Amino acid sequence: MLSRLDLFIDRMVSQRACLDFAIAHTAAMEGPVFELGLGNGRTYHHMRHYVERRDIYVFERAVASHPDSTPPEDRVILGDVRQTLPASLERFGPTASLVHADLGGHNREKNDVFARFVSPLIEPLLAPGGLMVSSDRMYFENLSEMSLPAGAVEGRCFIYRQG
Ligand code: SAM
Repeated sequence: MLSRLDLFIDRMVSQRACLDFAIAHTAAMEGPVFELGLGNGRTYHHMRHYVERRDIYVFERAVASHPDSTPPEDRVILGDVRQTLPASLERFGPTASLVHADLGGHNREKNDVFARFVSPLIEPLLAPGGLMVSSDRMYFENLSEMSLPAGAVEGRCFIYRQG
């Protein structure tokens, strides 16, 4: 039986391993990167540090991040992703090279219900070859689940590929 601290550390280590893998595997792509859920801004800060050339857009309903990890206003898509994701499909089309979602809270059942709801809103935003990294299992029709990179713990993070 793992402690909450064990689970938290597994999640953080897995999140970083999966993000690093996805950033490297999409590095040659041109399309934007979408961060769903800014929170404190730690994963946004990580992506800003390691993603080269590509624009990073952040989807968040209320910005409350660390000052070092606050995106410029024109890169924030403010509002509930249930509305902003469909609107972004009209704006960007299927161009995203990488989507990272960390939208969940502490309730695993609620997170699962939410993941089922937003999966079909995320799927059409990805360009062919684009990757989606999520802290929760997602429910996509056409994306395939990839093996996790070294260092990531099964069930703590998920990677999906378009096409
Ligand atoms: N990855 C972040 C980090 O490293 O600091 C933590 C993200 S935090 C767990 C989840 C964030 O998702 C919160 O800031 C919350 O406001 C946002 N969020 C949750 N549900 C949302 C929704 N329906 N629309 C927009 N943002 C949402």
